[in-house]
Amino acid sequence: RVKEQGKNNFQFYTPEMNEAVTKKMKLEIGLRKALERDEFKIVYQPQIDVETGDIIGVEALLRWHHPEWGTISPAEFIPIAEETGLILQIGEWVLHGACRQNKAWQDAGYTPLRMAVNISSRQFQQSDLVERVSRILNETELAPQYLELELTESIIQDSKYAVAKMQLLKEMGIHLSIDDFGTGYSSLSYLKTFPIHTLKIDQSFTRNIYADSKDASLVETIIAMAHNLDLKVIAEGVETEEQLQFLQQKQCNEAQGYYFSRPISAEELAVILQERSVSEVC
Ligand code: C2E
Ligand code: MG
Ligand code: MG
Ligand code: MG
Repeated sequence: RVKEQGKNNFQFYTPEMNEAVTKKMKLEIGLRKALERDEFKIVYQPQIDVETGDIIGVEALLRWHHPEWGTISPAEFIPIAEETGLILQIGEWVLHGACRQNKAWQDAGYTPLRMAVNISSRQFQQSDLVERVSRILNETELAPQYLELELTESIIQDSKYAVAKMQLLKEMGIHLSIDDFGTGYSSLSYLKTFPIHTLKIDQSFTRNIYADSKDASLVETIIAMAHNLDLKVIAEGVETEEQLQFLQQKQCNEAQGYYFSRPISAEELAVILQERSVSEVC
């Protein structure tokens, strides 16, 4: 009943811990079957040019619908997928599906969008990551400038040859962004050496722009710093008109959040793209 935690440091299992472990094991078993049972779906959240109001990109977000358990949040299953290594297969499936979808929208005649895909730590650490991405672009016939990979500060800092990999991806024409920027407790010095295009301001800062003047200062400072470094900035988690106005005023380039749209299915997004292309012709 005891678990050794380093030297001379014992911790007792509690019933709550057993429950948590059992739940995790269940999720893991479920995850192993989810791909073949076709339980995953990708939803897409629009990214808006703050100046023009145009949709210029979308972020692909994974959804897991289990026949008995219902919808399980990525916040719950991505860490398990990551721990077990299942994220490699799942991540590849997302990347392939998102690229294929983006090409399909282009083939349907919609104004081309950039497709942002979240890359997990294990995925980024794969030694053949660049070849895998390149193969997927070939298979789906998507031009590289319409793909963006979202990395986090910790992924980059924990990975071997991170800069070299990023450089190769950039040379292929792929966009790179730093997700959840400002939450990683990392040194800022990487910003000058890493070949990235965009900083994504974490939603925890955006949320409090109006409630907390310190968050407002942080957002303003991140935008100014990014622009001084020739980087673009996108704010995540924009939910209100006031937040958008603040971001416009501070010349944030792009915004994403429930104020514009929740993550939606490919079919729902096509309806919006259709309406948009009609209004462009008129
Ligand atoms: P993230 O990449 O930072 O994605 C943004 C999250 O914020 C999404 O949650 C999105 O639905 C949510 N969001 C967007 N706008 C708003 C808003 O206005 N208000 C609020 N409160 N939330 C908003 P989601 O889809 O639950 O995903 C959570 C996290 O799971 C993602 O955070 C990402 O880290 C991870 N994730 C999702 N899909 C994938 C994937 O395909 N691969 C990997 N490796 N991670 C993924
Ligand atoms: Mg993201
Ligand atoms: Mg984020
Ligand atoms: Mg996040």
